[in-house]
Amino acid sequence: MSARILVVDDVPANVKLLEARLSAEYFDVMTASNGTEALAISRRAECDIILLDVMMPDMDGFEVCRRLKTDPATHHIPVVMVTALDSPADRNRGLEAGADDFLTKPVSDVVLIARVRSLTRLKMMTDELRMRAITSLEIGMQAPERSAVADTGKGGRILLVDDRESSYERLATILAAEHTIDVEPNPTEALFHAAEGNYDLLIVSLDLNNFDGLRLCSQARSLERTRHVPILAIADPENSTRLLRGLEIGVNDYLLRPIDKTELLARARTQIRRRRYTDHLRDNVQNSIEMAITDALTGLHNRRYMESHLATLAEQASMRGKPLALMILDIDYFKSINDNYGHDAGDDVLREFAVRVRKSIRGIDLACRYGGEEFVIVMPETDLHVAGMVAERLRRSIAGEPFAIHKGTKRIEVTISIGLTTLERKGEAVADVLKRADTALYRAKHDGRNRVVSQAA
Ligand code: GH3
Ligand code: MG
Ligand code: MG
Repeated sequence: MSARILVVDDVPANVKLLEARLSAEYFDVMTASNGTEALAISRRAECDIILLDVMMPDMDGFEVCRRLKTDPATHHIPVVMVTALDSPADRNRGLEAGADDFLTKPVSDVVLIARVRSLTRLKMMTDELRMRAITSLEIGMQAPERSAVADTGKGGRILLVDDRESSYERLATILAAEHTIDVEPNPTEALFHAAEGNYDLLIVSLDLNNFDGLRLCSQARSLERTRHVPILAIADPENSTRLLRGLEIGVNDYLLRPIDKTELLARARTQIRRRRYTDHLRDNVQNSIEMAITDALTGLHNRRYMESHLATLAEQASMRGKPLALMILDIDYFKSINDNYGHDAGDDVLREFAVRVRKSIRGIDLACRYGGEEFVIVMPETDLHVAGMVAERLRRSIAGEPFAIHKGTKRIEVTISIGLTTLERKGEAVADVLKRADTALYRAKHDGRNRVVSQAA
């Protein structure tokens, strides 16, 4: 996992020092000596993490960070501010500017590397999602970047796991100013609670009585329902080495007690904003996968999906020695529906047709829109006789009930013709099965339409 780290500092000696430490851990290091240069490099998407000095002439680190975090092209790059100043006020200025973390000079090697590793993992995951989501952006879905830079990070749902009453009461009061917060004082209930609650952030105390908070964090990471929920750990200073261990097992951020109010709020907002962004990316990926295999008008599978899946179904049927039925359905005189009532009415018929098809088939049957007004249904473990009954039932469900068009103001008669066949021979080519069904369909049309014709192999 070789990430590219951009080190930004106006003092060459500081750059050299960080560069040497990071290179020793096999990170790729790039350097910049001022904010303008840093912004240009990040915009060219050449770095994964930015270590940013605060005090620089011209543009200071806060301003550089603010610009990075409000630019859709760079907002997702983790920024760690590195500074000699360590007052809560400075830390909070950085966090308010959107920084993901804060390191104080002289920077401890262990802390630096733990941080950079954990942010690298996060960045790699986000990049993977961004890459896959590009497809969905290309087909015009809303860009997650736009909502991400506008997101305040407020209004999240947070679960706080902490068994000290004085502690959780204070933290809950602080967080309630910006979020909805639930407290779980019983760590053994926490995982269940987290999985049920659809949270945007888990805050876990590592100073629990007789309970290992890190175990909880690692369980939350491996559980499907909580895997993507960010975790913010809090600990007493004497537990700070466990925090570094926490970063290794997937804790996203941490705070040491006594907890500064502004810092807690800022870190919670950062995590929630990131969570919403990656969720949005994930949704886009999911949608684009669905769009790639689904026909938009009818919601049935599309031809491409059917053709790739049909081969698998045919193989399975051959292997298990089970029958497989396939029918092609074609709406009769569909062109005249378009011609007489308009294209929208034709679309209404296609949609309603799909609804009726879905009602008539089983969950394991595969229905797809094969072309304009042609559909294919594949039925595993079904012989010609049974498939014939299903086809006849389908034919009747179409012809027996007129279709509503023009927003329900008019109803028209629709009929279909169906050609039906089965996969007969082991290893028979799928194309041959489709061809046989098509020939049967042709006969159904030729013989007067509104009928089913079966064609044994
Ligand atoms: P037949 O009984 O022989 O099947 O006659 P038909 O009119 O149904 O067949 P033909 O293939 O001549 O016409 C199909 C028509 O379907 C032509 C095309 O404009 C229309 N069509 C294809 N896709 C869509 C669609 O998505 N929406 C609408 N409204 N019409 C479509
Ligand atoms: Mg037709
Ligand atoms: Mg046709």
